[in-house]
Amino acid sequence: MHDPSHLDTALIHAGESSPRHAGAVTMPVFQSATYEYGGEGTYDAVRYLRLNNTPNHDVLHRKLATLEGGEAALVTASGMAAITTTLMATLSPGEHLLAQRCLYGGTHDFVTQTLAHLGIETTFVDANDPQAWAAARRETTKAVYVEALTNPLLEVADLRGVAEFASANGLTSIIDATFATPILLRPLDLGFDIVLHSATKYLNGHSDIVAGAVIGSADRIEKIRHLLNHFGGTLDPHACFLLHRGLKTLGLRVRHQCQSALTVAQFLDGHKAVKHVAYPGLAGHPDHARARELLAGFGGMLSFDVAGGAAVAERVTNATKLFVNAPSLGGPESLITMPAQTSHLGMDPQTRRALGIEDSLVRLSIGLEHPDDLIEDLSAALAKATR
Ligand SMILES: *Cc1c(COP(=O)(O)O)cnc(C)c1O
Repeated sequence: MHDPSHLDTALIHAGESSPRHAGAVTMPVFQSATYEYGGEGTYDAVRYLRLNNTPNHDVLHRKLATLEGGEAALVTASGMAAITTTLMATLSPGEHLLAQRCLYGGTHDFVTQTLAHLGIETTFVDANDPQAWAAARRETTKAVYVEALTNPLLEVADLRGVAEFASANGLTSIIDATFATPILLRPLDLGFDIVLHSATKYLNGHSDIVAGAVIGSADRIEKIRHLLNHFGGTLDPHACFLLHRGLKTLGLRVRHQCQSALTVAQFLDGHKAVKHVAYPGLAGHPDHARARELLAGFGGMLSFDVAGGAAVAERVTNATKLFVNAPSLGGPESLITMPAQTSHLGMDPQTRRALGIEDSLVRLSIGLEHPDDLIEDLSAALAKATR
């Protein structure tokens, strides 16, 4: 689809200020809430930190727009700020949303609680079945919402089909591409209207800030930015600086994480204490063919089911020495977590199991350590847990 190696250059140079500020090779932090009035004609044009228009914001917006191949971009105070502001800017009371099943927990709760309360209904559909989307569409349907790789089973939906369905029906198509990053997938090239990220994860990549991003057409981003200015969900300049710094190594990190994740997945796949491994890079994954077609790599996330049930899985998560037992993903430290006890705890157990999320499922976020050490860590933890 696209050549991610050229994104490596864009990560470093795209959107940078020219001339550089005082000649500084790296973008400095503009730790100022307000800026001298320069004759701006509109409220949103006056430079003020909450209005997301400081030099630190501008450079990130230009860089992210280039990386995703969009006209414009916006950074936000968190991934949830990006998601909620985008949905609120897209949907009005009385309108209807079609969403993929098994969304990120915060997004699921927002659409089923907050949007529902505002008179915006959501129907959850199987993203692999375009017929189901057509059947669930109403006169009032305004938008469709999917995720690039689902959590924790790493399913890759028929994303091209979803974008085509939306465009054929005049619906706004929105995708949360947090797990994929532009290194693996550029959703706007597939026909999506809006790309969302929790930049907390891979884009920043160091597990030291929360941030979000929205990329799309100039018109759409302007509307979302206007609402974000009212909500006040601004990313502070120091977090902008860290995100900017983190982004420069995105390509190096994600490629390393993809390679390590495949090595770890293959190890687990051949382990006698492991019942099942979910990683789209394995030939046995139900969406392997689609992942090969749509993605430039299979990602740094995987999950596996241990024989012996939840008690053994829990012992594994407590026995690792390198993998840290913590939620979140995309950082240098590899993380291990049990979705049934963390990200999907709020879901009733029957629904959870129906979605394929067993109580004994363990999720890994592969970091930047050497894969041999990660395998040794898992091998020792599995041996200890099943002894
Ligand atoms: C973490 C995450 C979010 C929420 O992002 P925050 O930065 O924590 O607000 C949304 N979507 C996905 C897929 C995530 O992994």
